[in-house]
Amino acid sequence: MWWWIREKMDNLFFQDKNQIYKVNLHKEAYNQIIYYCDRANPYEIGSVLIGNYSLNQTTANILQITPPPKDSIQAKYNFHRGSSGLIKVLDTVWNQGQYYLGEWHYHPNMSSFPSSIDKKQMMILSQDKRLKCPEPILIIIGGHKGNWNINVRLFANNKEIILYNL
Ligand SMILES: [Zn+2]
Repeated sequence: MWWWIREKMDNLFFQDKNQIYKVNLHKEAYNQIIYYCDRANPYEIGSVLIGNYSLNQTTANILQITPPPKDSIQAKYNFHRGSSGLIKVLDTVWNQGQYYLGEWHYHPNMSSFPSSIDKKQMMILSQDKRLKCPEPILIIIGGHKGNWNINVRLFANNKEIILYNL
């Protein structure tokens, strides 16, 4: 669950231990996330995950991320993602067959382990009718350039599901 970095040349795959939930984090989206984290250090930053589902619905493909909404609040130990312009972006990608899949944020120079607030926020987002995503994914990046680490979770039916890197 912990690793290295440089430009990622391959997609990253994650799944839960029962192999029900699968996430394919495409290298372009990963590299975008790392770019934002590196630039934001030592401040937190985050935004949303966008992509599609495989034809048999078993795999979520994370294809891109949005820039952080302008009304986001950024601090060293806290990040509140704003929502300004977000619905408009989601409407646009909807026309390309892509959807809101969840959230990512950065824990600068720390562990990527999710806090209890992180988890609570995901439970709330899973019930947000405007996002139409009852099983949102949470990606947290920790660390810093040369020493990134990652946690990937999925929230379904008010439960947190840990996804492991394959
Ligand atoms: Zn967090």
